[in-house]
Amino acid sequence: MSKNVCAWGDPGMITAADIYSECSRRTSKMSFLSQEEKIASLRAMIKDSTNIVAMLGVGMEIECGLRNLSSSEECYRIEEEYGLSPEELFSAAFYTTKKQKFYEFYRREILDREAHPGPGYHAIKRLQEMGKLPACIVHDISGLAEEAGIFNIIDIRGSIRVNECPKCYRGYSLQYMKEAKGIPLCEDCQVPIRPRVLLHGEMMRNDLMTMAADAMRQASMVLLLGTNMNHPLVKTFLQYYEGEHVVLITLHEHYSDDLAELCIHGRVDEILPRVI
Ligand SMILES: [Zn+2]
Repeated sequence: MSKNVCAWGDPGMITAADIYSECSRRTSKMSFLSQEEKIASLRAMIKDSTNIVAMLGVGMEIECGLRNLSSSEECYRIEEEYGLSPEELFSAAFYTTKKQKFYEFYRREILDREAHPGPGYHAIKRLQEMGKLPACIVHDISGLAEEAGIFNIIDIRGSIRVNECPKCYRGYSLQYMKEAKGIPLCEDCQVPIRPRVLLHGEMMRNDLMTMAADAMRQASMVLLLGTNMNHPLVKTFLQYYEGEHVVLITLHEHYSDDLAELCIHGRVDEILPRVI
C-alpha cells in the first residue's frame, strides 16, 4: 500500500530494519553472481522495463572529477583554510549573516570546478531517448544531469545552474555567478542573487519531494547510481516504490548493499554504458 506524501519527516528516523523489510522481498541470490553475470542481468532487466527511475548520488559527480566536500580529507582541508566546517559554511545561517564569506567559499569550492558530464550521464540520456526513463532524481547540486541533456530532472537539493533574484525573480546564469565579484547582485534591484541550492538548515521543497515520490510510485525499476541503500533520500523514496527491480551501481562497498536486488560494484561511467 502506498503511503501518503503529506509530511516529510526526518529520513534519518527510518531504521535499517525498515528498509530491510521493504526490500527483502526483492532480494535474491544475485550477490553470488559474477560481475559479468550481474551486468548481463542488468541488461535483461533494462530491456524488460519501461518505467525506470534513476536516482543519482554524489558518486556520479565525483566520477566526473568533482571533489567530495563531505569526505574527511576535504572537511579537514576546508576547516584549515576557512576556520569552519563545510556544513557551517554551506548553511542558511552563514548565507544570511556572512554573505561575503559565503560567496568566497561557494565560488571557490563549488562553482570554480571544471567538470562535465561523462559516459554515465550520457548512458542515462540514451535510456531516456529509448523512452524508458520518465524521471531522474538527482541528489547533488552539480547541474551535470541538465548539462548532459537529461530531461524531467528532479533536483531534490537544487542546482548551481538555477540562480534567482529574490525580489524580481530574474534568473541568472551559472556563468554570471562565477564571474561576479564579491556578492553577485541583481542588475535591476541590486539585491544579492540567491543560488537555488538547498543549504544546511533549510527544508526540502515539498513539491519536489512529492514529484519524486510520485515518480517512484509509478516506477517498475529503480537504478541507484553512485549512492548507497542507507542514504537518507534513498531510504525516503524507496518507501514509495512498489516496482520489481532495485539495482545499485556503486564504486564503494557498503554494509547495506545487499538490500538491493542487484548490486554492482564499479564506476557507473564504466558499467552503465555497457548495458545501454
Ligand atoms: Zn531583481
